[in-house]
Amino acid sequence: MHKAQKEKLRDIFIGMRRCFKCGKRASLYLFQHRAAFCREHYLEWYLKRLDETIKEFGMFSREDRVLVAVSGGKDSLSLWDALKKLGYKADGFYIDLGIGEYSEKSRRLCEEFAKARGLKLHILHLGLEIATIPQIKSIEKRPACSYCGQLKRYYMNKLAKDKGYTVIATGHNLDDESATLFSNIINWNMEYLERQSPVLKGGEGFVRKVKPLFKFTEKENALYAFLSGIDFVEEECPFSEGANSIEYKKILSQLEERSPGTKLRFYMDFLRKCRPLLGAKEIDLRACQACGEPTIAELCSVCKLRQRLNSRILSS
Ligand code: SF4
Ligand code: ZN
Ligand code: ZN
Repeated sequence: MHKAQKEKLRDIFIGMRRCFKCGKRASLYLFQHRAAFCREHYLEWYLKRLDETIKEFGMFSREDRVLVAVSGGKDSLSLWDALKKLGYKADGFYIDLGIGEYSEKSRRLCEEFAKARGLKLHILHLGLEIATIPQIKSIEKRPACSYCGQLKRYYMNKLAKDKGYTVIATGHNLDDESATLFSNIINWNMEYLERQSPVLKGGEGFVRKVKPLFKFTEKENALYAFLSGIDFVEEECPFSEGANSIEYKKILSQLEERSPGTKLRFYMDFLRKCRPLLGAKEIDLRACQACGEPTIAELCSVCKLRQRLNSRILSS
């Protein structure tokens, strides 16, 4: 048997593959893309794919001022790092939710990330603006994620407008987006399906919102972070336990294991085949009477929450 043939067989049997670009021994293999990469060419592939996605969906240009919502996790820090390497004007925004050690660690990692790269990071302390998530949890009956998500969206939009950013970019990945789509279909939540998109147009008091990582899996972002030397928080938020999205992610991951590429196909086919059929309804927006942010009622949901918190404090 020829030496080359032997090598080929060895690669197949022991799973050692060659980088598809340079032929060196690969560090990783992506089943979904049937592609093996060395470190250098994986990072190159990631940046190229990200830039192509931004352009394909008209997310933003190099003239835009992008505000990246960072949580200290692998997705958002990878996004910020990659956008800077691609030459975009991107600053970070961290919201300290006041969730004990989890928030302290994630804030510290964001601060260190920004300092090491000389980047601008805005920090907002939720406890100083309204109340921490644990404080709200002791008063509200709803699951923490419902008001936490609302508050994050509110303060992101507000800060972006105040500081003149033209786009808000979040680190939602393919696992997040496909699990959300799955949940919206299981519950036939038409209102959310109409709005499920990697780009939410701005206007009427809203800054454009984009999800440039929606084609990358959690693993691909973790690999980018690891290979780029990014230190990120690995612990999950203590309030994420028991969330339905975790179950949906597990189901989709089982399907993905059996048939690599399922998640991406599921989400991309929704965007191509189904979303154009869902006409988004016009929503009648007005300015909140208390804070001026866009809302459908007299008071926005955050001002209503603030009122409830104040009345609880007064009555206790
Ligand atoms: Fe907020 Fe829920 Fe995310 Fe925790 S898991 S940071 S409570 S949205
Ligand atoms: Zn290579
Ligand atoms: Zn308001």
